[in-house]
Amino acid sequence: MSLLDSIFAFFARLFGLNLPSGDEPLQVVSPRVLVINYDPVVDAQGTRLTEKMGWNRIDDLIPRFIADMEEVSYGLVKYQYNGANRIDVDEFPRKKDGFQYTAASYLAMMQDPRTHHEPDGVDYWKIVDDHHLIDRVIGHQIDEVWLFGAPYFGFWESHMVGKGAIWCNSSPLANSDRCTRRFVMMGFNYERGVPEMVHDMGHRMESIMAYVYHSFNTLQNAYNSVNPNVRPPVGPEKFTNPKNDFEHFLLFEKIAPGRAEMGLLHTPPNAGKDYDWQNPNLASSSCDDWLNFPDLRGTRRMINANEWGWGADGYAFNKWWFGHAPHAKGSKNGILNNWWDYTIRVDRPFRGRR
Ligand SMILES: [Zn+2]
Repeated sequence: MSLLDSIFAFFARLFGLNLPSGDEPLQVVSPRVLVINYDPVVDAQGTRLTEKMGWNRIDDLIPRFIADMEEVSYGLVKYQYNGANRIDVDEFPRKKDGFQYTAASYLAMMQDPRTHHEPDGVDYWKIVDDHHLIDRVIGHQIDEVWLFGAPYFGFWESHMVGKGAIWCNSSPLANSDRCTRRFVMMGFNYERGVPEMVHDMGHRMESIMAYVYHSFNTLQNAYNSVNPNVRPPVGPEKFTNPKNDFEHFLLFEKIAPGRAEMGLLHTPPNAGKDYDWQNPNLASSSCDDWLNFPDLRGTRRMINANEWGWGADGYAFNKWWFGHAPHAKGSKNGILNNWWDYTIRVDRPFRGRR
């Protein structure tokens, strides 16, 4: 052991750091999902909201989303769901301020959504307590929760609960430390489809990986760079020295002209603006290289939206983006080379040995 190594080992012991060693095998994860479906009866004939409005059936959405996750993760994520882990709730979810729609008030609001109740946010604690989610998670009966609901039900796309919970495209559930095993509650909308479910999972990966790499500010800057309301604008000068693989991965043309890599969920490698999934302009991207991760060779080529197949809903791009996210065995600089492990197994430490 060199002097430097022994000094590092000393400090690692001192601070209780226990870093991945580099030879970790690839883990297939099979999270058990609890579905809580809010689809209330809205008339005297017993019609459910989804039927009344002609919205999607969650029995169609769930298997397609599970298949998509397995596909884009190269078989590393195999969600486990069966009907026994489904709760159908015959009511509108109560909001944080106590407000609750009735069938009549909800249907009237949907005639003119500008009249929706604010604040919109749902009472997550009521959901957690009503369905004993903390006991179920601590008892390893389930690993995560998928809420299904309608527009203006006030769900976050993803929301993390438990001791040490982090930003997951929403602030963590406050005061949830007594849940000693962290979990994520996805908030899906049956008015929308599988593309939006995949999209929600993408923001979950971005949020969690930004934390793992200590790069939350860089992620925020990248989103701000395509937000015309941010003044002064965030320009390429913030992205000239990427400090880790995540900060390389997220580069796109607008913030790194000529140096794009994979971009972010809203911003493909050739993006010049937010939600730029159908941009015909060619830009240099290192996309192929990410399939070799961690063995990056610096290869690049010119690409545009032909690469993923266009698509106004971002579905094709988001799946293509996921397919290039690191999914290899081993670790590098103390971080696993498989980003799915962090994104899905949120009950493990985000930093250090898992
Ligand atoms: Zn989004």
